[in-house]
Amino acid sequence: MQTYLTLMKLLCCLLFRVVKVKCTNCDSPTVYSTYCKEHLIEHLIATVKKTIEDYSLFSHDDEIVCATSGGKDSLTLVDVLSHLNYNVTALCIDEGIHNYREHTIVDLKKFCKERNVNLRIVSFKDNFNGTLDEYTAANDVTPCRVCGVFRRKLLNKYAYGTLATGHNLDDELQNIMMNFWRGNIELAARLGPRSGVSKREGFVPRVKPLYFIPEKMVRVYAILRGFDVHFTECPHARDSFRHQIGNILNKWESDESGVKRHIMDSFLEILPKLKEKYADATTEICPECNGPSAGGVCRACSYASTLKL
Ligand code: SF4
Repeated sequence: MQTYLTLMKLLCCLLFRVVKVKCTNCDSPTVYSTYCKEHLIEHLIATVKKTIEDYSLFSHDDEIVCATSGGKDSLTLVDVLSHLNYNVTALCIDEGIHNYREHTIVDLKKFCKERNVNLRIVSFKDNFNGTLDEYTAANDVTPCRVCGVFRRKLLNKYAYGTLATGHNLDDELQNIMMNFWRGNIELAARLGPRSGVSKREGFVPRVKPLYFIPEKMVRVYAILRGFDVHFTECPHARDSFRHQIGNILNKWESDESGVKRHIMDSFLEILPKLKEKYADATTEICPECNGPSAGGVCRACSYASTLKL
């Protein structure tokens, strides 16, 4: 049965290419799903606009800081928001990952200049006295663990107004499944197009305008819009737990089309209840940096003082 389904999928893909299926909106050939180039770009921008409006993510009076890694998602976010005339600044965190970050920064500067978007770069080195490479070389720690803690800290410290991230539909599904996998229901309650459960002191509101856009569609959009960047992947990305969960989700979707959408729809249905349940979760203030903390010294200050350099 499995082999039969795989063969059918291959056959459909071949037919799709040979017959040149037409866009459902016009006579042009499709480039992704049922969309031609023009209508895919139009659809993605319209979906982002609808998400911003439906979830009241921000308005044209707000200052939007986009967390920008230089990958296709954050660049798409900057591209679409600047196209929609929002007041956007790109914030890039330079972790100090050799042979990766230096290249993306060159591309990012050019990308933002072309769109007249301000770019701010802040580094681990300036804020934590060492690069990620230096921390991981001197300690027995996984890069993503340290990186995630330091990165969140800097985004919270340097973002003002509203912080928009380039999380797409697949990223959010990975977040949902990682939290379920680890039994972190309280953390799952903070997910959604608008992150968090309540307005917490010290936390900058985070929003995800690409929330309903699948990863593949973002990739096609970036290609069609001709982003002149190299899309270098972080050398640690494939070792991460997120990557493993992403592979599992892709396998489920390939076995049964629609699984991702079903998980997302189910999650969005229970999310208001989760947010209600954890609305009173309190935040403490870190005595070292005065930033938000789950209790006592925050993890970023704890890592910076206990890890060797
Ligand atoms: Fe940081 Fe890991 Fe992401 Fe690389 S993959 S940028 S190390 S969190």
